[in-house]
Amino acid sequence: MELPYSEPFKIKMVETVSRSTAEQREKWIRDASYNLFNLRSGQVYIDLLTDSGTGAMSDRQWSAMMQGDESYAGAASYYRLKEAIKDITGFDFFLPTHQGRAAENVLFSVLVKEGDLVPGNSHFDTTKGHIEFRKATAVDCTIGIASDPSAYHPFKGNVDTEKLERVIVNAQPKKVACIVVTITNNTSGGQPVSMSNLREVSRIAKSYNIKLILDSARFAENAYFIKTREDGYASKSIREIVSEMFSYADGMTMSSKKDAIVNMGGFIGFRDEELFREASVYNIIYEGFITYGGMSGRDMEALAQGLYEGTGYEYLESRIRQVGLLGSRLKEYGVPVIEPFGGHAIFIDAKSFLPHIPRNEFPGQTLAVELYAEGGVRGVEIGALMADRDPVTRENRYPALELVRLAVPRRVYTDNHIEYVAAAVANVYERRNSIRHGLRIISEAPILRHFTIALERI
Ligand SMILES: *Cc1c(COP(=O)(O)O)cnc(C)c1O
Repeated sequence: MELPYSEPFKIKMVETVSRSTAEQREKWIRDASYNLFNLRSGQVYIDLLTDSGTGAMSDRQWSAMMQGDESYAGAASYYRLKEAIKDITGFDFFLPTHQGRAAENVLFSVLVKEGDLVPGNSHFDTTKGHIEFRKATAVDCTIGIASDPSAYHPFKGNVDTEKLERVIVNAQPKKVACIVVTITNNTSGGQPVSMSNLREVSRIAKSYNIKLILDSARFAENAYFIKTREDGYASKSIREIVSEMFSYADGMTMSSKKDAIVNMGGFIGFRDEELFREASVYNIIYEGFITYGGMSGRDMEALAQGLYEGTGYEYLESRIRQVGLLGSRLKEYGVPVIEPFGGHAIFIDAKSFLPHIPRNEFPGQTLAVELYAEGGVRGVEIGALMADRDPVTRENRYPALELVRLAVPRRVYTDNHIEYVAAAVANVYERRNSIRHGLRIISEAPILRHFTIALERI
């Protein structure tokens, strides 16, 4: 018989996770003000809150850490990381930062000024936060089909290039600070951006002399989708595809906690030495000296190794296949999910799942709370709570999609865990009509409110 698929790794160390009862979970989630960020990890059985910083490092990454050089300036670990970044992304200059949003903070301190526009595909929440904090505007130019959760498009993260060009042409007297393309497009469901779209965005950016920045947290997963879905790339290696992707950009921000499979870290890549020098000033103020910028030497070692492992084809295949397993099961159980499946997560369409819960009762968050109560599975709402209020009118913003994201950590859970999660979602789906009401806000922060919001059941 044909041998079944199996993972290209085996397990060297295990960590116990504990189950709980429905009564315990009901109490814990009430005490957490129906905000899943307030739960203690020990109260969660399977944690799909995020794939950020939650991956399992390899034996090679752990052993690389032993070679960390903790010198304040000019550490060998910095130079090893610099070489790995040059090798994989092609960028000559880089600044280490403690995580992805710190990279955004440092880079946007140079590029983004009050009143500017920053067009791109749907910006990630911290990216948008750093833009709006500077009183600039993030303009979403994602292709229209991305907001239709059941429509198929192989590259649903693409930029609508006509809209992008209109935004640039009509910007006067405002200035377009830079274009930010997120690969893969997290906010629209972990959807990839095609190489031809990147090429076209780059052409437009160059013709108006605007810098193109790639928000690159999941650049390797994006490359996997290009290899498996875009004409002309099937026989190219992931690293060849990655280097072509970055060849179209002037710079990148990176949350290394995603595709570089480390628990903490980030960086900015630059083509232009001048921009690197300007950003260095802010890196020193906010992050640390330019040869460590918020990272220990050992962490830079693990990151350098992680960049190679994260861009290996066999690893990416096992990862994206496992995420696909979750999506296929949910589909079999009739649960409305966004298709095609994203690279790092499955997104449940909460508006279709709970059509009787109005948007001002937060159906996404309601579903995330029910899923936790059902099986101790922690996902996250990506909908009206995360979308914050409009900075000017202070009204709730209702994005086109109201989603619950189940993000799969890298190399952490087995397929049995995935089957358990799918069954828990199916059970909530079975009893969806008995969920009569949603949630109401008791207190919230002025920006990035979803992290600390307090809610109650209506
Ligand atoms: C995670 C993420 C960020 C922010 O990175 P942190 O490391 O969490 O600060 C920015 N953009 C995208 C697309 C991300 O997924």
